[in-house]
Amino acid sequence: MSTEPSSNVLRIAIIGGGPAGLGAAIALSRLPNVKITLYEKARELREVGAGINIGYNCWKVLELLGAAEEVRGHAAQNVLHRNAISGEIRSERPAQSSLPPKYRSHRVRRTRLQSALISKVPQGIIQLNRRLVSLHDELHGVRLIFEDGDETIADLVLGGDGIRSVVRLSLFPDHVTKFTGTTIWRTLVPAKLCSDIPNLVPETSWWHGPAGHCYFSLVDDPSEFSDSNNSSEQMLEISCRYLTDPALDTERRFSWGIPATNERVTVHFKDYDPRPRESLSRVPEGNWKEFSAFAGPRLDRLIGWGKVALLGDSSHPLTGAFGSGAAFAMEDGWILAQAIEYTTNRRLSTDQGTKAQNIADALEIFNEIRSPYYRRMYEHIDNQKAKTLQARAKAESESSDPTHIFEGALQARLDSFTAVGEMDWIYRNDIGLVWQDYLRREKLEDSGIDLTASNL
Ligand SMILES: Cc1cc2nc3c(=O)[nH]c(=O)nc-3n(C[C@H](O)[C@H](O)[C@H](O)COP(=O)(O)OP(=O)(O)OC[C@H]3O[C@@H](n4cnc5c(N)ncnc54)[C@H](O)[C@@H]3O)c2cc1C
Repeated sequence: MSTEPSSNVLRIAIIGGGPAGLGAAIALSRLPNVKITLYEKARELREVGAGINIGYNCWKVLELLGAAEEVRGHAAQNVLHRNAISGEIRSERPAQSSLPPKYRSHRVRRTRLQSALISKVPQGIIQLNRRLVSLHDELHGVRLIFEDGDETIADLVLGGDGIRSVVRLSLFPDHVTKFTGTTIWRTLVPAKLCSDIPNLVPETSWWHGPAGHCYFSLVDDPSEFSDSNNSSEQMLEISCRYLTDPALDTERRFSWGIPATNERVTVHFKDYDPRPRESLSRVPEGNWKEFSAFAGPRLDRLIGWGKVALLGDSSHPLTGAFGSGAAFAMEDGWILAQAIEYTTNRRLSTDQGTKAQNIADALEIFNEIRSPYYRRMYEHIDNQKAKTLQARAKAESESSDPTHIFEGALQARLDSFTAVGEMDWIYRNDIGLVWQDYLRREKLEDSGIDLTASNL
């Protein structure tokens, strides 16, 4: 990337090759007069972490990015929630709704999502082995400094560098993320490894215990496998979570997947029903990856210096709290691209303002749309935590029996799943419609209509 102040070409540096960075690269590369470089610290773009849920909101943004077709996975009919200790089914929800099949929830291999996105990023944009270490606000752009000592200048920097973002740290040095107490272990194993264990394959099931859960789901579309080998190559995702008191935790924690031994995982689930226990014992040694959940407070603004924006996990450090973070990450990049196109066209049509002002205006639009969305998520999490604590306190006041207390907390957790219809603002979000709505409101405001006084 050139270090000279350029004329018309907008120099965009994207940090990170996850869903946020790749989605932004695809959406922005459709704009004229842009020079995009995506810097990724890894030596190769390799996704770890088993499966990922792709729901309506994610399909919608994948469509807009032109990457939906390549993403295929398992569409569960029912999702079972069990008491992990007794094995009892506590709720059974039909996973599929009245939505057309292509928009229904699918569990897919994370590598599939990543390959689909990479295939849509124009050649020559991605630079690997490029770890950003700091950013500096300059008169004509942002200076980026890399670990290898190299530097460059960009007009616009997009931080898609994940939960422990260097870009966020440069903008907001006082913002800190901390280990939440939740450790997650994930793996993919051949489904046939567990197919003789009752009630595990092909069901999608959650086994909820007193301090965590195990989750089982297929991740492949069976129609992709030839008749001859039928479902023998299908993979099963196993994902387990365990919660400890973060104040008592003294270990060094990693937000990305590091190898974990079988013993390290299974020790937390020894009191579970024999079915999940048996399946965990069959995971080949060396297959588990461990993730520690980090989270930090909400950011008031997702932008800074008039030329830097945070996308995806860097903009709302919550570690997969809604199981939809990939969609949020891609929505961020897509909206930002629309905002840049909009302010650029506005500047060209009025022949007013500078390129720098144009970027700053686009970032404000991005912030105006996305910041309230993330505020709502933080509020929801706070409400949910309060409900769980209330349920536990109620159960504790009724009896000191640990089984009774566990049942109370379990019911609160199950209620949070069954309340999924109340979460349409997330899971039925259509980012294309969000943008159209923004434009409609802008038009009305321009024509002098007071939006606060009406029900628009
Ligand atoms: C256990 C778990 C389960 C989840 N389940 C789901 C799910 O079912 N559905 C869903 O949609 N989401 C899920 N999520 C969330 C989802 O994985 C994230 O929200 C999503 O990956 C965020 O994308 P991102 O691009 O913002 O960040 P990331 O995917 O973290 O990508 C960040 C990229 O930036 C690179 N990078 C970091 N620092 C630097 C640097 N200094 N210089 C250069 N490059 C850098 C990293 O190497 C990485 O490639 C889950 C998350 C977890 C932890």
